[in-house]
Amino acid sequence: MVRVVLATHNAHKAREFQQLLGGEVPGLEIVAYDGPEPVEDGVSFAENALIKARAAAAHTGLPALADDSGICVDVMGGAPGIFSARWAGSHGDASANLRLLLDQLADVPEPNRSAHFTATLALLTPDGEPTVVEGVWQGSIAREPRGENGHGYDPIFVPDGGDRTAAQLTAEQKNAESHRARALTAIIPALRELAARS
Ligand code: IMP
Repeated sequence: MVRVVLATHNAHKAREFQQLLGGEVPGLEIVAYDGPEPVEDGVSFAENALIKARAAAAHTGLPALADDSGICVDVMGGAPGIFSARWAGSHGDASANLRLLLDQLADVPEPNRSAHFTATLALLTPDGEPTVVEGVWQGSIAREPRGENGHGYDPIFVPDGGDRTAAQLTAEQKNAESHRARALTAIIPALRELAARS
């Protein structure tokens, strides 16, 4: 049995993690984190994930798992990127964020609206090197928001291979191919190794 603290206060994310990791790592118990949240002043997804993992590990004494994620638009040089959560100014205003992004892309024609979601996960164990993995979900930015599911930029992100936005997919469909699902799959071996050593 190994307990790992998940360094997020975001209930939506914690649910996604539970759905996606459930059953994959025998003996793994994910515990919620309610300690202080650090300033995310890294300059990459990986740096910010590590900052959050370090804070949760220091506060709890447990191995810590943290993620950092965002949307990257090619024609904007990868922005909003690490600034995705506060693109319109105030942290976490999802509809203002996606409205600003749509306005910025108003004159950009279809072939140049390619984008991807990125999720980076950092696992920090008391005795080991950090493990950092990344998952990417390719797609493009729609003209208008569509769909009621999901969160954040989901209503304007159209994954490659279809014409529905991520907010028009069921949770199961999103979990089968999302950036976070891919990153979680990639971190499973490190979690299994940690569980085996404990
Ligand atoms: P974080 O919580 O600091 O990782 O910030 C993530 C930012 O990227 C938030 O603005 C989210 O809305 C956005 N984001 C990350 N993953 C997704 C997703 O799966 N769907 C929609 N928005 C996402």
